[in-house]
Amino acid sequence: EEARVSAAPAGARRIKALPPGVPAIEIRDLHKSFGTNEVLKGLNLTIEGGEVVCVVGPSGSGKSTLLRSVNLLEAPTSGRIRIEGVDILDPEVDVDRIRTRIGMVFQQFNLFPHMDVLRNLTIAQERVLGRSREEARRVALAMLERVGLSDKATAHPGHLSGGQQQRVAIARSLAMNPDMMLFDEPTSALDPELVGEVLAVMRDLAADGMTMMVVTHEMGFAREVGSRLIFMDGGVIVEDGDPREVLAHPSHPRTQAFFSKVL
Ligand code: ADP
Ligand code: MG
Repeated sequence: EEARVSAAPAGARRIKALPPGVPAIEIRDLHKSFGTNEVLKGLNLTIEGGEVVCVVGPSGSGKSTLLRSVNLLEAPTSGRIRIEGVDILDPEVDVDRIRTRIGMVFQQFNLFPHMDVLRNLTIAQERVLGRSREEARRVALAMLERVGLSDKATAHPGHLSGGQQQRVAIARSLAMNPDMMLFDEPTSALDPELVGEVLAVMRDLAADGMTMMVVTHEMGFAREVGSRLIFMDGGVIVEDGDPREVLAHPSHPRTQAFFSKVL
């Protein structure tokens, strides 16, 4: 088992880095209502290859709905979303194919509890991407190595700490070779002492050029790793800029009030 783990070729650890300066995600006038509750109110956002966009804002401001719309887990009421130039709301578009290009990591890890870690990482590769068992296994081991969990391949999720489970969830997403990654409060369910190991994995991904949207309350991460910080309130973006700049000089009163509470 150990020999196989270390035999994973270093190249397999590579992740996709989209070209900088080219739009990866383009959102135009996005509206989303649940019944009479309008949650997204005409949101505009363009994210280019390699950007690490941290999204903050009060509970209920529409952060999760925004991320879920990008991954088509929610159907927008109106507006336009392009992923790498493709209009994903076009009824002709193959939604499943788009989804495999966008990795998503949630607050809850959503691992399959009855499967070991390796199987958690191989099953979608085989069933969705049609990879052979051997190829899926090779990629899985390489991604476990990337998140520092090569020694947990045969463990069951229930025997891992929350931080380890979230790193497995990230590795599982990466094994699908996504073009970009969406993180929705990935450390919010973790005990404080386990937050750092997950943020370290995300920092590593960012350094390798992964295009990322990260909803987080971790302002240190936003400042040090984020290339952009967005503040959402009431279903719109009220602030968008360099994280250090936004944190030091929030221009909007609602941003100032929010930061004064979380910082
Ligand atoms: P955030 O992630 O910023 O806390 P959300 O996007 O989760 O905000 O939620 C924004 C608003 O949308 C909330 O008022 C929430 O109750 C509502 N909402 C989210 N998902 C649903 C849903 N599936 N059905 C009805 N209302 C929803
Ligand atoms: Mg949320």
